[in-house]
Amino acid sequence: MKIYHLSAECYPIAKVGGLADVVGALPKYQNRLGCEAYVVMPWYDRPFIKDHKFENVFDGTVVLKNLQFKFKVLKEKKNSLGFALYLIKIDGLTDRPNVYGYEDAALQYIGFQTIALYWIRESKELPDLVHCHDHHTGLVPFLMNYSSEFEKLRGIPTVTTIHNGQYQGQMGWEMVNYLPNFNLTDGGLLDWDDCINPMAAAVKCANAFTTVSEGYLKELMDDKGAGLEDLYRQESQKAHGIVNGIDTEVWNPETDKYLIENYTSANFVTKKRANKKELCERYKLNEGLPLISFIGRFAAEKGADLLPGIIERAIMERSGDVNFLVLGSGDPAVEQKLWDIHHRFIGNFGLETGYNEPLSHIIYAGSDYLLMPSRVEPCGLNQMYSMRYGTVPIVRKTGGLNDTVPDIDEKDGRGIQFNDADENGAVWAIHKALDFENDTKNSRKLRRSIMKIDFSWEKSAQKYLALYENLKQQR
Ligand code: ADP
Repeated sequence: MKIYHLSAECYPIAKVGGLADVVGALPKYQNRLGCEAYVVMPWYDRPFIKDHKFENVFDGTVVLKNLQFKFKVLKEKKNSLGFALYLIKIDGLTDRPNVYGYEDAALQYIGFQTIALYWIRESKELPDLVHCHDHHTGLVPFLMNYSSEFEKLRGIPTVTTIHNGQYQGQMGWEMVNYLPNFNLTDGGLLDWDDCINPMAAAVKCANAFTTVSEGYLKELMDDKGAGLEDLYRQESQKAHGIVNGIDTEVWNPETDKYLIENYTSANFVTKKRANKKELCERYKLNEGLPLISFIGRFAAEKGADLLPGIIERAIMERSGDVNFLVLGSGDPAVEQKLWDIHHRFIGNFGLETGYNEPLSHIIYAGSDYLLMPSRVEPCGLNQMYSMRYGTVPIVRKTGGLNDTVPDIDEKDGRGIQFNDADENGAVWAIHKALDFENDTKNSRKLRRSIMKIDFSWEKSAQKYLALYENLKQQR
């Protein structure tokens, strides 16, 4: 089965969050199941691209309303990632270093999706299915089914995966003239609240939509759909919750090249500590104290605004007998508050702002606990990486965190849960973690057991495949 994954991010080419990790792993595992899975993404001015060889497979000029852009579709020559990778380079639209944050983002994604479909339309062998990820590719199911330019693609099944329903890519209706031709009577399919809403369009027009955990699917229909709750309920007959896996080849404490010392569940006690030592030296922390870390975007969804208050209270209430380390970037107000706290608690709190992939691996390995006070968490990968590295997650009971981290008081517990996304909830959970830490025998036993959990992609890749087969048969 030939599948095209369309996405704005893919690890290791361009990663901002979990979307990249998923799109960088799922196709590889699908190929092992006998599929032919490709990734198609925008070209960015990134080191991976400079370090790898590409060949031109398609080029031309695209006209978006009154604007013309030259483009190329470039294929990575060696398939070095375990799948064929195609990058769409649009001069003047994608030849930039960052993935997000440009004022003309709507135009960037319209250009990317239009060219991707031009190219797919011309391929010798059409795909069996097109799998779109998040709102950046949300117009594709509509265009394939309703644009006169893509009649050749009509009827090819499409799946949309919602990695993050908070971002929907809304744009004003004045953008409609930048889209490939379609009959305006079908325009309602693009609309939500008097805007063109690519996420809503994807849910309406794709043959199926999936969310990255079962729990998140329910939440999207209840109150976390950012205004699309009714739509998710209306379309629930084609909804599926499929939890993400993790790439156990990239995230393996036994072989991870970023770690100071590699380890397994059999020898983690001393070797995991070498990673903690490194972090404590770098951030002037006391190695003898429990280390609780946070890695992620400084965004309200992640509860990052709660971190300064949580850290301050926990350090004070434990009389300085706990250390924190935060790696992240995002909201400048949160960054500023964290720096303020950092200056007050030198010796107890290390802070690194910015994006740092190698450091994130050492933190997963060298921490004792990983804190995730998320308000919304569609799946969450951090908690799975942390468990694989023997680091106990402390999570708010929501979405994918609730699905993957049962509390230690429950059967087969894996971490510590708290109910409320506020300071009190998180500080309560931190006290529970620190009391548990004093029980050396059981905390080691837990670490050993969470390291052995199978979070690999195999099971979830099979679920996607079963869904694809089903859609293909309905065609
Ligand atoms: P989201 O996609 O909502 O940001 P996920 O938990 O799905 O959250 O995925 C986050 C991914 O991004 C993880 O791989 C995490 O390690 C990584 N990450 C987030 N922030 C940083 C950072 N500042 N430096 C390095 N890696 C980061």
